[in-house]
Amino acid sequence: MNPHGVSVSVQDLSRNYWKAGKRIDVLKNLNLTLNSGDRVAVVGPSGSGKSTLLHQLGLLDRPSSGLVQFDGKAVEHLGDTGRAQMRSRTIGFVFQAHNLLPEHTAQMNVMMPVLLAGGTQRAALTRANALLAAVGLGGRTQHRPGELSGGEQQRVALARALVMGPGLVLADEPTGNLDPRTASGVFDLLLQLNQQLGSTLVVVTHSESLASRFQKRFVLDQGKLVEG
Ligand code: ADP
Ligand code: MG
Repeated sequence: MNPHGVSVSVQDLSRNYWKAGKRIDVLKNLNLTLNSGDRVAVVGPSGSGKSTLLHQLGLLDRPSSGLVQFDGKAVEHLGDTGRAQMRSRTIGFVFQAHNLLPEHTAQMNVMMPVLLAGGTQRAALTRANALLAAVGLGGRTQHRPGELSGGEQQRVALARALVMGPGLVLADEPTGNLDPRTASGVFDLLLQLNQQLGSTLVVVTHSESLASRFQKRFVLDQGKLVEG
């Protein structure tokens, strides 16, 4: 598992919603260029469009207008199957709520993306165990999410996001539900593992102190990204 980081180019991206006959412009001609392996933070007040932006980068939603390119190739022509395939093979997600399957062990939760992509049980097991060890949970593989602490659950979610060796990792307030100390540890892991893997990383966070650990920070303001 040695992915190369995906380069990302976003050109004049707009996303608006219609609600009760009114148009809400959330992203307005937004531009962003990320080189392979860049690790950046996005901050901005609640409601500024951070999750909307990650949904666009993660191909979970389509733009109203504008272009998203991965490694110089536009994704707009992809149909739903192509987008789902791209998400599974290329993109790893970490959300604020871990979204782990409660009835399955930590190990099975991390194996799942590999199995769903057609990998063998053995390959899934090997990769899941390696990732769980990498996030410090080698001793918790048989625990179910409800038997783990909040920080441990997010570390399982991190292992799951990385198990396919994604070239792009998107994290939406991944430590928003954790106490500051636990959040700091999970954040360190997120940065360290992405550096090791060489994946491109975009993290949305409310916390200025966590954002300051990144080489590059963007503020989402008035529908556009401003560096700083
Ligand atoms: P953030 O993640 O920065 O808190 P969001 O991206 O979730 O912000 O939301 C940005 C704005 O878009 C908000 O004003 C929100 O109400 C609006 N919005 C988000 N999703 C929808 C939707 N599906 N329909 C209508 N409005 C939406
Ligand atoms: Mg949000």
